[in-house]
Amino acid sequence: MVSVTRKLTLTVISALAFLTGTLSPPVYARADERPACEQNGITVYRNFPGAAFDSCAFSKDGTVEFVIRPEDKEINPSPWYAFRVVSNASRRLPVVLNYGRIKHRYLPDVNYDGHTWQPLNDAQVISNPDETRVQFSVALHPAHATTVAAQPLLAGADYRAWIDSLDSATVSTKEIGRSPLNNPLWRLTTAPKTHTLLLIGRQHPPETTGAIAMLAFMERLFAQDELAREFRQQVGILAYPLLNPDGVELGYWRHNTGSQDLNRDWGPFTQIETRSVASDIDEYLGEHATTLIKSIDFHSTWYEVFYTQEDATADNFPALLGNWMTEFERAMKTWRPDFALNRKPSHNADRPTAKSYFFERYGVASTTLEIGDATPDAYTGRYAQLAAESFMRVWLEQSR
Ligand SMILES: [Zn+2]
Repeated sequence: MVSVTRKLTLTVISALAFLTGTLSPPVYARADERPACEQNGITVYRNFPGAAFDSCAFSKDGTVEFVIRPEDKEINPSPWYAFRVVSNASRRLPVVLNYGRIKHRYLPDVNYDGHTWQPLNDAQVISNPDETRVQFSVALHPAHATTVAAQPLLAGADYRAWIDSLDSATVSTKEIGRSPLNNPLWRLTTAPKTHTLLLIGRQHPPETTGAIAMLAFMERLFAQDELAREFRQQVGILAYPLLNPDGVELGYWRHNTGSQDLNRDWGPFTQIETRSVASDIDEYLGEHATTLIKSIDFHSTWYEVFYTQEDATADNFPALLGNWMTEFERAMKTWRPDFALNRKPSHNADRPTAKSYFFERYGVASTTLEIGDATPDAYTGRYAQLAAESFMRVWLEQSR
C-alpha cells in the first residue's frame, strides 16, 4: 500500500509539474504576435493563451507600466494579468501594474525557462498604500523570453495534454459541444454504473489552484489501486474540467464572452457553456439510468474552504456529506496534525450557482471546493488526493 501511495503521489506531482511548467504553443487561441509596446530592444507581447492586460507603456527611466482592466465593468475583484517580454540583452526590467481602482490580489509568477514558475514573494512586490498599484522587477535574457502571470498558466492546450496522458482504458473523453469562440467543452467519464459522481471545474478563469485540485482529485479516482478500482465498480465518474475555455484563453477575471459569471447561470441558462453541460448531465443520467450521489465544483479563493449544505439535508445519501468531511479531516490530520477543516454550510436558493442547482435538481449534497490563491501545488495535490481517497472510503463503507 505504501508503494502504491508513493507511486500515485509521484504521478500527480509529475503531472502537476508538467502542467504548470508547460508553455504550450497556442492551438486555437487568439495569438496577437504584434508587440504591445517596445523600447530600446525590449519588446512586450500578449501572444499566448491566457495573456491579458489593457495596455503597456515604457517611461523614460525604462520602467514598463501595465494598465490592468477587467473584461466587464461589474466584476469580482480578481485582477488577472499575463505578459511576455523579449530582450536583446541581459538586464532587469522594472515593472508597474496599475489596477485603476481595483486592489492588487495575485503575486506575480515568473517563468524564465519555459518550464518553471517562480512566485515572487511579498517583499519583492512593493505596493502603494491603497494597493491599486504595485512595482517589482524581472530578469531579462537574450536567449529566452520572460513570462509573467498572475498565476501559473493552465490553458486549454494544457488540459488537452493532460487528457491525452490519461489511461484510455479507464477514462473516456468526449467533446460535448463548443464555446462561443469554438473551444471544446470536454467531458470525462469512467464506465457508467448505477451511481454517478459529478465534478465540474474552471468556471472562473483565474482560479488555477482549484483547477490543479480538480486534476489531482480526478487522478486519484482514476488510479489503479484497490480503493479506486472498487469505487469505480460502483460509481461512474462524470467530469467537466473546463467550463469556461474562452475566459481562460482570453485571460478574463471572471466572465465568459457573453459577459456572464457562469456560476450565476445555473437556472437561467443564458450561456452556451452552462446550457451544454447541464443538458449533457441530464442526457448522461437518463441514458445510463444512473443516480447522482454528489457533485463537487472546484474553485479558488483566498484560502482553502468547503462550501457545503448542512449535514443530512440532501434527499439522496443524506449521511454522505458529513461522513466525508469527518473522514477528510481525519486523513488530513494524519498528514498535517495541526490541520483544521474550514467548512461553511449554507444554502442560497435564490443564487443560481452550480451548488444550488445540483442540490435542488438532483437532491444531492453539492460542494464548492475552494483552494487558496497562493497555496503551493504540492500541498494542493495532496489535499485533493486525500479528499478523493476519503470520499471513496466513505462511499464504500456506507454501501457495504
Ligand atoms: Zn470561483
